[in-house]
Amino acid sequence: MSAEATVFEIDDLRKYIFTFLRSYPHKSCRECKCVLEWDPGIKKVNYLEWATFKPVCHDCFRNIFFSNNIGLGCYIM
Ligand SMILES: [Zn+2]
Repeated sequence: MSAEATVFEIDDLRKYIFTFLRSYPHKSCRECKCVLEWDPGIKKVNYLEWATFKPVCHDCFRNIFFSNNIGLGCYIM
């Protein structure tokens, strides 16, 4: 039996190892909750972030931007 298999046979040791694993992402989109960064510094999805706001993915930012009509003031009637 290999060393890895032996370690995972021991319940207490297996539980201790799994305490180091996260079940939530480092950063997630505040709107759609998609994972932006699971580990710090490794982007999964491009996103925008300001100092005072929670990060928002590009798709949600675009939806918010156009739904609020705060664009460049260009209205087509
Ligand atoms: Zn989003």
